[in-house]
Amino acid sequence: MGLERLEEVRASFLADLERAGVDADAVERVRVAYAGRRSGLLQELAGGLRELPSEAKRDYGRALNELKKLVEERLDEAKARVAEGRAASADRRVDITLPGRRLARGAEHPVHLVRRRIEEIFLRMGYDVEDGPEIEDDWHNFEALNMPPDHPARDDQDTFYIGASHLLRTHTSPVQARVMESRQPPIRIVVPGRVYRRDSDLRHSPMFHQLEGLVVDVGITVGHLKATLETFLRALFSDDVRVRLRPGFFPFTEPSAEVDISCIFCAQRGCGVCSGSGWIEILGSGMVDPRVFEAVGIDPERYTGFAFGLGLDRVAMLQYGIPDLRQLFAGDQRLTRQFE
Ligand SMILES: [Zn+2]
Repeated sequence: MGLERLEEVRASFLADLERAGVDADAVERVRVAYAGRRSGLLQELAGGLRELPSEAKRDYGRALNELKKLVEERLDEAKARVAEGRAASADRRVDITLPGRRLARGAEHPVHLVRRRIEEIFLRMGYDVEDGPEIEDDWHNFEALNMPPDHPARDDQDTFYIGASHLLRTHTSPVQARVMESRQPPIRIVVPGRVYRRDSDLRHSPMFHQLEGLVVDVGITVGHLKATLETFLRALFSDDVRVRLRPGFFPFTEPSAEVDISCIFCAQRGCGVCSGSGWIEILGSGMVDPRVFEAVGIDPERYTGFAFGLGLDRVAMLQYGIPDLRQLFAGDQRLTRQFE
């Protein structure tokens, strides 16, 4: 017993631990052999302290404590390496028999398909595609479009307000007002976009899509309106579709017209889609009210114009036979995959 013995044990411990590497069982065996409570070598060495002459006890005791500390530290390090090795090998483990993960291929949404087709038709006719904010102020959404504060279209039931002066636009028409404020005629634009109303059932969703059209120039008449809509609707649906204008009412056009197309499903013999009438209501239109021109700074004595709007979702439902508007926005890939 003596300091030499401590040195021997120290050397053999380090060698044994080195050999054990990151093998968990081997590290554990080294721990038991050296630091085990009952029969570990350190325990045995501590027992040797009693047999030493008292003058040697102090040096031996100090060296033994240092050795204990070293053994403890090195064992902790070895255990950490074992845990690390396990994590790393778990990362590396690859089961090559597993089936591959396929990336789901996206498809264009039916509403977007319709929007793009309609934009293309109007681009060919020389229109620009315009955009505007979905959070609108009261002036552009209502007031500029001839809807004073007491107008029924402003009913709280229909509009999502954001504070006192702002709202989620209830139609794409405020973009008309913004474009006319910012530039003088000639103006030929279409404005597709999301709009919001407090409504939800088979045919209504709190968010839906509209497309707005506006033409302003010298000498624009109802004839131009009718010819434009006929050209557009035949390009969109089919060459033999018939177009009918009925008197209607919109606050920002005068006169106003509801526009129907001959039923594309039954050749006007009458069916469920057209409720037996042979006609399908497809858009609203009219000549721009002079008061709208005044509000946005365009001379109503010099210019006339027409505007129209239609629901893109409704067109998608008609074209693809989708019965419930809400299906369009449910995010169900079984629907969209059909459009790949
Ligand atoms: Zn029909």
